[in-house]
Amino acid sequence: MKKCDVVIVGAGLGGLRALYALRQLGLSATVIEASDDVGGVWHHNRYPGARCDVESYDYSYMFSPELEQEWRWSERYATQPEVLSYIHHVAERFNLRRDIEFNTRMERAKFDEASNRWCVTAQDGQEWDSQYLIMAVGQLSTTKQPNYPGQETFKGNIYHSAAWPREPISFGGKRVGIIGTGSSGVQMTPVIAAQAEHLTVFQRSANFSIPAANAPVSDEEDNAVKADYAARRQRALNSPSGLGFVPNGVSALEATPQEREAVYEAAWNRLGFGFALAYKDILLDDASNATAADFIRQKIAQQVDDPVTRKLLTPEGFPFGAKRPSVDSNYFKTFNRENVTLVDIKSSPIKDISPDGLRTTEREYPLDVIIYATGFDAFTGSLLRPEIKGRNGETLREKWASGPVNYLGLGVSGFPNMFVLVGPGSPSLLSNVILSIEQQVDWLSDLIGFASTKGSAAIETTQEAELEWVEHVNARAHETLYPKAASYYTGAEVEGKPRVFMPYSGGVRGYRRILERVANEEYNGFRFF
Ligand code: NAP
Repeated sequence: MKKCDVVIVGAGLGGLRALYALRQLGLSATVIEASDDVGGVWHHNRYPGARCDVESYDYSYMFSPELEQEWRWSERYATQPEVLSYIHHVAERFNLRRDIEFNTRMERAKFDEASNRWCVTAQDGQEWDSQYLIMAVGQLSTTKQPNYPGQETFKGNIYHSAAWPREPISFGGKRVGIIGTGSSGVQMTPVIAAQAEHLTVFQRSANFSIPAANAPVSDEEDNAVKADYAARRQRALNSPSGLGFVPNGVSALEATPQEREAVYEAAWNRLGFGFALAYKDILLDDASNATAADFIRQKIAQQVDDPVTRKLLTPEGFPFGAKRPSVDSNYFKTFNRENVTLVDIKSSPIKDISPDGLRTTEREYPLDVIIYATGFDAFTGSLLRPEIKGRNGETLREKWASGPVNYLGLGVSGFPNMFVLVGPGSPSLLSNVILSIEQQVDWLSDLIGFASTKGSAAIETTQEAELEWVEHVNARAHETLYPKAASYYTGAEVEGKPRVFMPYSGGVRGYRRILERVANEEYNGFRFF
């Protein structure tokens, strides 16, 4: 058994940042990573058109001003290969690889109450004895794989967007089917449509999508951002979602229809994801939200020629933004192409897959390639896959049987010295995740430093603090419109999953203030022993 101070699970953006920070603290840390390289989601999601929908200058680490200055982003929204090469650069620049065990999947971990240490076991039998366990496993890393009858008989290839092969796939001359129209489906549709002989998109639900307004980054723009990077970071840290967009302080209902139209038009043409902040109450008030939703529906209508397809692509029945909207490049217009068909699988669901294609309850679609863009078992999928045993042998699966409970999203009572990065109960997927990672990792380093100064072997969340936090997360969620959609924020993406609102909707600034207060109160809500 190998001994170290910290085992970090996952070598994505979170795990790498945690490794860097804990080394700075003088701790010995080992990262275990199931795949053969760094990058997490950016390593796996290699589908055509994959790109970050947070602006590159904001979707990057802020811990190193030199890195900030030297890295040159080529586009406003970086492609997957560019984000991945950035992550590789970081891993090399800070010499992180030497502490990463690749091809090593965590199978279980057990807390030993006598020594206050974790025993972490990998699938291949390797074991670590560590004081701390940090789960940096990602929120969107356990894929949701449909299991259609007959899929094993399909003569062509079936791919999942998040388990994409390394070698390029040629779609030329092929009949391709995409199942799923979330961000992944929306991003790949225009790119695959341009290559395939025919593309059929199987849609269960339409969602809102905002144009990415992507553009190359000019030298002038790059210089301007870098001359003022610290201020940009401050804006991001002080914005609700960490995206740097300062929300319009006005209610959508206070504006005249003409003013609203102008504000929405400007946001539509430039803000991407930030469209939701065009007015302060779009995500809070049904009537305000309806003004934004109507504007987007009109924009969709203007882009789609065929009336039946247009109607199918128009989202209805839930507020804009309550389900994560997509950010697209020419998604809706793609359905005007002769070689693209949209199929409504809500009214005629997929029945099975045959050797030659896919059958809905209505008809058969001959296909050469099938792509599952069906998403993930979000937030808890990867946290609950390994068996994690805390105090008294209670597993995390048992503890979270009715949904995740934790304090600040970070600590779980009964699981001393274990911390979760950007998981449920934290701003996580409602924020610019990389910013939230840095916020949590720096805070966690201070917490661990504090415990070490006190001479404590263990840090554990109290049950009272945990209960209060869960109530607070719920209360904040119910001040918003988020719970009004069946989304992966609420556990609706997996049948039988507990239906609770998972991320913290109080914003990264609000969250930071809470973290600061807790730290100033000598980490109120944690006990040290
Ligand atoms: P997703 O948003 O969960 O979308 C999954 C899609 O598949 C939905 O349209 C869903 O329909 C459909 N679906 C799921 N199971 C199905 C089934 N059994 N049969 C038919 N349809 C099914 O997943 P995603 O598109 O992979 O995106 C997940 C998240 O990853 C995003 O929200 C975003 O946070 C992140 N992401 C980010 C980027 C980026 O930064 N650029 C890119 C891609 C993804 P229903 O809506 O009816 O369930």
